[in-house]
Amino acid sequence: MSDDADNEYKRAHRELHDAMNALREIQGNPPVPYRESNTSLIHEPPFCSFCGKGANSVRKLIAGPNAFICDECVALAAEIMADD
Ligand SMILES: [Zn+2]
Repeated sequence: MSDDADNEYKRAHRELHDAMNALREIQGNPPVPYRESNTSLIHEPPFCSFCGKGANSVRKLIAGPNAFICDECVALAAEIMADD
């Protein structure tokens, strides 16, 4: 994998992020701060945005538009929601 391809990927990722924020603005939502891609072409697989566990350490990793959540965090969130 060349650095050029990686830089191109990061640029595209950034553009996608800006486009998403433009859309959020139209919908009246606050913009999301930019974070450099965790899923760069030359880096490791994605990890849970909540607990930080890698895709290999959890049973399931669910992908959202700008984040990932693992099955353990989903179960924890469901527990918290059930408390109400
Ligand atoms: Zn998690």
